[in-house]
Amino acid sequence: MDKPLVVITGASAGIGAALAKRFSEAGHPLLLIARRVEKIKALNLPNSICEQVDVNEPEALKNAIKAAESTYGPVDCLINNAGVMLLGQIDTQDPTEWQKMYDVNVMALLNGMQIVLGDMKERNHGTIINISSIAGKKSFANHAAYVGTKFAVSAISENVREEVADTGVRIMTICPGAVETELLGHTTSKDIIDGYEQWKESIGGALEADDIARTAIFMYEQPQNVHIRDVTITATRQQ
Ligand code: NDP
Repeated sequence: MDKPLVVITGASAGIGAALAKRFSEAGHPLLLIARRVEKIKALNLPNSICEQVDVNEPEALKNAIKAAESTYGPVDCLINNAGVMLLGQIDTQDPTEWQKMYDVNVMALLNGMQIVLGDMKERNHGTIINISSIAGKKSFANHAAYVGTKFAVSAISENVREEVADTGVRIMTICPGAVETELLGHTTSKDIIDGYEQWKESIGGALEADDIARTAIFMYEQPQNVHIRDVTITATRQQ
C-alpha cells in the first residue's frame, strides 16, 4: 500500500533535513518546507515537493499543503520542526529577536496544527510531531526567550493532545538536548557561542540530527492506537 503524505517544516538543514531523509527512506511522499528552497531540492529525495515558504505566512503554508494533498492525498503526519534560537542576555538582547523566536517557534507551530487538524479529526487518523527542546523542560543561561518559546511548545502540544485524544489523532512532542546543527550560528554574541561550544565539548559532544530523526520515525511508526506522547533525547552526558 502507498505510504501517506508527511509534511516537514524547516527541512533545509539540521534535524529537518535528517527527518526528510528518514521519512523518505521509509517510502513516504513528502512536502518539504523552508525559505532556502535550493537546499531542500539538493536533498534530491523521490516523491518530494519542495516549497519555498516562510512558516510565518500561514496562507502560503496552507496553500502548499493543499497543493501537495491534491497530488499525494491527505497529510498523515505534520512535523513542526522549523525553529530559531537566538541566545542573549535579557538586559541587552534586541527585543526583535524575542519576537522572531515567538513567531517561528510558537505562532507558526499553532498555525501549522490548525491547518491540518480539522481534516485529521474528520478522518480519525493522523499525527503531529512538534519539535520542542530540553529547553522546554528546564532553563539554561542566556536562553530566556528561547526557553519561553519551548516551554510554550511543550505546553501547547500537551494541551492539544488532550483536546483531540478522543478523535484518535496523536500529538507527539520531542525534546532534544544539544544537536549538532546550524541552530547556534544565528546568535549574535561571540562570547555566548564560544561558551556554548565549550559546554558541548565538556559533555562529550552533541547528538547528530539523525538521532532525532530515528526517534521521530520510531514514534510515528507505532500503530495509531499507540501514542508515544513525548520523548526527551540528549547526549548521555548532558545534565
Ligand atoms: P537549524 O538552524 O539547522 O535548522 C532550522 C530550520 O528551520 C531550517 O531548515 C530553516 O530553514 C527553518 N526555518 C527557520 N525559520 C523559518 C521560517 N521562518 N520559515 C521556514 N523555515 C524556517 O536548526 P535545528 O535543525 O537544530 O532545529 C530544528 C528544530 O529543533 C528547532 O525547532 C529547534 O528549536 C529544535 N531543537 C534543536 C536543538 C539543537 O541543539 N540543534 C535542540 C533542541 C531543539 P530556512 O532557513 O531555509 O528557512
